[in-house]
Amino acid sequence: MLEIVRIPVLSDNYVWLAHDDASGETAVIDPAVAEPVLAAAAARGWKIGQILNTHWHPDHVGGNAEIVAATGAKVTGPAAEAARIPGLSRAVAEGDSVAIGGATGRVLDVPAHTAGHIAYAFDGVLFCGDTLFALGCGRLFEGTAEQMFTALGKFAALPDATQVYCAHEYTQSNARFAVTVEPENAALLARAAAIDAARARGEATVPTTIGLEKATNPFMRARDAAELGQRRAAKDSFR
Ligand code: ZN
Ligand code: FE
Repeated sequence: MLEIVRIPVLSDNYVWLAHDDASGETAVIDPAVAEPVLAAAAARGWKIGQILNTHWHPDHVGGNAEIVAATGAKVTGPAAEAARIPGLSRAVAEGDSVAIGGATGRVLDVPAHTAGHIAYAFDGVLFCGDTLFALGCGRLFEGTAEQMFTALGKFAALPDATQVYCAHEYTQSNARFAVTVEPENAALLARAAAIDAARARGEATVPTTIGLEKATNPFMRARDAAELGQRRAAKDSFR
């Protein structure tokens, strides 16, 4: 079992620390910055042994070099973006495994937000970077709606109870858009109200679960790539 700690950084990023108690091993996923991550690990007496990156964007790899310098951590990241991952020690792609102590994860290729984006699926835990968000999905900077549809389909095949650790707190604005897509989805309306209440209390809305996203996320619920693409375009210009 992984113990997972949320570290809010920058304006809306979440960096995740994942700790395997039995072995004492700790990994950090997508460290946008170094200092709060090093502090969070030190506060728990954890030593960061590895960094797992999902894609090359600076708000996901910006802390790599400083964390490697401070801890000697090994960096695992997407093979298709290897040249853009600072300090990369192991390039991985779909079919490869990663381990945090006794917890084994598999790598999923999910290109769409960036051309080489990957995700890490552990037992009951998904680190999905900027591919899936609570009630949203990543922007299509380097990929297509077809690719995003395929990526979300891979996530949809995971067990409903899987905890989804997204890299941003975008949920409230995603909810405002989602209710315009499915104004009669009762589960979505209830969730949107709960999200507003949570944010008013200053609480995080991530992690989410695969089951909850399947029931309420307009991108997970798109029937085909064309519909996903229409919704993504509408969201891009939604205010
Ligand atoms: Zn990104
Ligand atoms: Fe990001």
